[in-house]
Amino acid sequence: MSTGAQQVPEESAPAPALQRLSELVRRVNSSTDTADVLEEIVHGVCEVLGYGVAAIARLEGDTLVMTAVAGPDDVRRQVLGRRTPASEILDEFRQADRWGILRFVPHGRMDNARLTNAWIPDYEPIDDPMAWHPEDALYAPLYSATGRLLGNMAVDLPPDSRIPSRHERELLEMFVVQAGLALSNAQQREQLAEQVRLGSTVKEVAQAGSQPGLDAILAEACEAVHRGLEATQVWMRCYPDEDMSNGVAAGHPRPNPSGAGAASLRADLSSVWPNPEPVVVHRGDETCDRLPASLPKLQEMMASVGADSVVVVPMGVALELLGYIVIGFPGTRGPLQPAEVDAVAEIARELGRSVHSARLLETEQRLVSELRELDRYKGELITTISHELKTPLTTIIGHAELLGEIHEHRSVEAIARNAERLNRLVQNLLDYSRVQDRLASVRVDIDLVEVCRAAIDLAGMLADTGRVTVEMTACCEPVTVQGDPEELSLVVDNLVNNAVKYTRPGGTVRVEVECDPTWLRIAVHDSGLGISEADQVHLFSAFHRSSNPEALSIPGTGLGLAISRRIVESHGGRIEVESVLGRGSTFTLALPRVHPAVA
Ligand code: ADP
Repeated sequence: MSTGAQQVPEESAPAPALQRLSELVRRVNSSTDTADVLEEIVHGVCEVLGYGVAAIARLEGDTLVMTAVAGPDDVRRQVLGRRTPASEILDEFRQADRWGILRFVPHGRMDNARLTNAWIPDYEPIDDPMAWHPEDALYAPLYSATGRLLGNMAVDLPPDSRIPSRHERELLEMFVVQAGLALSNAQQREQLAEQVRLGSTVKEVAQAGSQPGLDAILAEACEAVHRGLEATQVWMRCYPDEDMSNGVAAGHPRPNPSGAGAASLRADLSSVWPNPEPVVVHRGDETCDRLPASLPKLQEMMASVGADSVVVVPMGVALELLGYIVIGFPGTRGPLQPAEVDAVAEIARELGRSVHSARLLETEQRLVSELRELDRYKGELITTISHELKTPLTTIIGHAELLGEIHEHRSVEAIARNAERLNRLVQNLLDYSRVQDRLASVRVDIDLVEVCRAAIDLAGMLADTGRVTVEMTACCEPVTVQGDPEELSLVVDNLVNNAVKYTRPGGTVRVEVECDPTWLRIAVHDSGLGISEADQVHLFSAFHRSSNPEALSIPGTGLGLAISRRIVESHGGRIEVESVLGRGSTFTLALPRVHPAVA
């Protein structure tokens, strides 16, 4: 039975056909509503070219889905939404006669299985070689510019119930071209939107790397992937540095806290790493080369969260596997596209880098806090031992002095000298631990010229014994600064004492006090032993003494400059050295005119 929808085209058919076509061309180029445009095309084919039925199917994954149908209502109802595997149609195209871009499959050539699936009009064929037979099929595959199948157009019940003439086919081809363009445009728009969506998901994952701590990084990355890839679930797991426990995990929904399945997945991924390729597993898959041990758990998990497929991707850097990402997808969203798999690989790469950096930072922070603790302990130890040594030493020195007054003996002298040396060391140690990690607390006006004079006086005896001349110049007097008088005197005493101590007999030490609008400076020049460049690098570190044997033969503790730097910095100032080995040194102490804590 014929559906009765066919019309005989009139002689003037090309005119309305061309007019309809030009409207269509405009619509195809301007509209973003693909479904609407496809509807117009199939209706145009029926109304203007006189076919009884015209339909367009779009390719979704590997299935052609009938999306636009024009013709009688009952036919539309039967055909609309019908799904046919693309492979079936492609097989059929191979058996078809090529009519330009159209494909004609005459009755008798279509195989039976396909015939039972296809819509066949119900009417008796006319006995005429040019008559249209109900089992004849006329198609037009719709391809993209790059040759990818996008859909298929089918027509039936041609005008006059006759096989379309060459002229009629040419007109039909024009509509087919418009359908192809409409699908091609839609595909480009979808691809662009897809690229934007995937690109912004990858970007969000990369940005998650700036979160503080691994937990926050994973939580934010999970959120981004869940949203961006429309996943049923996203699980991310990072292994701890050394042991095999669960490490850090985050996800939608919360991952199983016991990490069930995590160990088998780790074993599988370890054996494939450093291959970073994502692995796609479908519900019901019975084998998976790359995930043999974890497949049963993955299947269990897919069933429990209602996922139809999962992508498992390892993450790591270089040879180190750091963890993995599991993303589950529902069956309703269609198969995973290659661009999506690429995006998942990129996400894993970005996250691997972030996890690696976060781990490095964690290690660094742990080391820093361990070092701080060690430093605090060292400080405490120095203070305690120094205090314990101080009392018996004072007693020894007192008694040695008494003995010295009674007997002038070399041994008594040696005891007194060495006890004094020990006493200096203990005092230095106490000063050193006292000035660690704190700002100068006392702030009174101090005249630096006065401080320098006192230091020169203190070093007087040493200078006389060593035949070193000490001179002093000052830009003006007084040169007042705010600070702790005891501490600043300690610094200047140390610099002047060192200058005299490390200068050979006949040498000169010159102390200069200078000022400018913002800084006050004390420069202590000497014509002494000088310090090599290598030693200068460590000069202000505690216990450092020059490697120069001549300097080493002079008693010292290597603490004076470390104490000095700490004190100067706690006053907002700085201490610097310029020196040439064998020629002499200049130590410059600069203090801000106004104490920063007061400013
Ligand atoms: P100490 O003099 O007690 O060893 P310091 O911390 O004051 O400790 O000095 C550290 C080291 O720097 C000294 O051991 C010495 O080798 C070197 N040094 C300091 N001042 C001078 C100087 N003016 N000339 C040559 N070497 C110096």
